[in-house]
Amino acid sequence: MYKNILVPIDLAHKETAGPMISDALALAGKDAKLTLLYVMPDIPGIVSAHLPEGSTDQAKASAEAELRELARNSGANDNIEALTSVGPPHHNILETAKRDDIDLIVIASHQPEFSDYLLGSVAARVVRHAPCSVHVMR
Ligand code: ADP
Repeated sequence: MYKNILVPIDLAHKETAGPMISDALALAGKDAKLTLLYVMPDIPGIVSAHLPEGSTDQAKASAEAELRELARNSGANDNIEALTSVGPPHHNILETAKRDDIDLIVIASHQPEFSDYLLGSVAARVVRHAPCSVHVMR
């Protein structure tokens, strides 16, 4: 069983979040930690310069609250961390896994609307380069 599980969740396509968290809980050992990560799209400087001050912090806080709610709705209450970062999703998922000593990544194979794909672009790169085991949810 795994002790330190990373579940990357694209909040723009939340349909897969519940089943991914359930899979993570099924694979979690006693006292395992679950980290939910949403990698937010980078806003070009020219656009962000016109946003009210604090917009990025607000977006981050509301995304983290949404991740925690998804966890609660799927029965995950203890030892949960909600994280956000900005950058290319596959890169940030892999960097988080290395930095935080993750022992399992639970990822969906693709977004629900692309059901013909074997593996989506983010999932494929995570599977290829992960430093740990990867559970691919179909
Ligand atoms: P597709 O190419 O069909 O869009 P992806 O490979 O992008 O499929 O998505 C598969 C899974 O990768 C998602 O369900 C999620 O687990 C993860 N993922 C994709 N984008 C992000 C993101 N921005 N933040 C966190 N996880 C992501």
